[in-house]
Amino acid sequence: MGTYTENRPGAINRNYAKLPGSYLFSEIGRRVAAYSEENPGAKIIRLGIGDVTRPLCKAVTDAMHAAVDEMGNEMTFKGYGPELGYPFLREAIAKGDYAIRGADIGIDEIFVSDGAKCDCANISDLFSADAVMAVCDPVYPVYVDSNAMAGRAGTFDPSTGRWSDLVYMPCTEETGFLPVIPDPGEGRKIPDVIWLCFPNNPTGSAITREELTKWVNFANENGSVIMYDSAYEAYISEDLPHSIFEIDGARECAIEFRSFSKTAGFTGTRCAYTVVPRTLKREGASLNEMWARRQSTKFNGTPYITQRGAAAVYSPEGRTQIRENIEYYMSNAAIIRQGLIDSGFTVFGGVNAPYIWLKTPDGMKSWDFFDHLMREFQIIGTPGSGFGPCGEGYFRLTAFGSRENTLEAMDRIKGAF
Ligand code: PLP
Repeated sequence: MGTYTENRPGAINRNYAKLPGSYLFSEIGRRVAAYSEENPGAKIIRLGIGDVTRPLCKAVTDAMHAAVDEMGNEMTFKGYGPELGYPFLREAIAKGDYAIRGADIGIDEIFVSDGAKCDCANISDLFSADAVMAVCDPVYPVYVDSNAMAGRAGTFDPSTGRWSDLVYMPCTEETGFLPVIPDPGEGRKIPDVIWLCFPNNPTGSAITREELTKWVNFANENGSVIMYDSAYEAYISEDLPHSIFEIDGARECAIEFRSFSKTAGFTGTRCAYTVVPRTLKREGASLNEMWARRQSTKFNGTPYITQRGAAAVYSPEGRTQIRENIEYYMSNAAIIRQGLIDSGFTVFGGVNAPYIWLKTPDGMKSWDFFDHLMREFQIIGTPGSGFGPCGEGYFRLTAFGSRENTLEAMDRIKGAF
């Protein structure tokens, strides 16, 4: 006699079984652990994973302390908050991130959450099981894996590193690591959803107004929806759009993801938001209303204390203090860029993003370069191939380490390549 589950084939979401093996950072962790065990004295410098290291700024912690006191007082205690975010934070965002850049975003278009990762993964709930998704290659893996789990990616071919049902937009050195607009020619699939991320993780590339306008026009002409992940907009140092809503026509075709993680050190505190304009409609349905319905059904809101901390980012002190941290990281980025250039590397990114994307020397494979850098210099980075086949031959370093470690890492490789 079989077990209950064996008697009910089809009950399990088999799409999970289609996901390729170990997650990139688990594999890195495994290799680093094995190396550390063999070399217990090695001083390893981690410039791989994209987590911040600077603490929360004082304006944020003061606001959070005050919020803790409110929660401990029966006169000011708060239970469940509004699922879509407290008005004080949504207003601060509308004013401080959008009105200031000439983008007209109303507070009912802003949905506060506990992370851009979950929002990026959950937003596809608004699309049918056979909606066509276009993704960049290389890519932040969440867009791909979450759609694969929902059955939209088809099957994974390990020999090409690609899913059968996704539309891929290669980002190569020739295009300045910008994706090429999918050709909607005969027999080709027009994407229902286009995933863009600028400034980009992993390549560190950024997009101009002119280029972004082409995407908005394409989406409006073809009925596609752009998912615009601008989690790193705070790192832009040149005259570039911070939001897709700075572009005419974006309110009719785009959703934007933002996060306090890299802007204000909230990776462990968790706060983000997604903007879904009321004017974004498909097949007569309002995506704003659908997302509001989805979030109020499946999400119970970001903690009050966290939202108070996030709102403090928009105060004059908060703005100054988070800027100091961003400048700290971007000085690290400049040190890495220059260190690599001086060592003869071809380097991209690191100007409008905390990511430095380097070409491996002598056409080395990304994972071979990972092992080489770990074994010879005890420096950990991220193999470009882990982000997609077009990342092969590239390698990502991040500016999120301490100044001391960043300087030492560049010192270690000086003259070695
Ligand atoms: N989007 C991109 C492109 C990221 O690189 C990351 C984090 O590394 C996120 C979203 C996730 O942000 P959060 O910490 O808000 O979940």
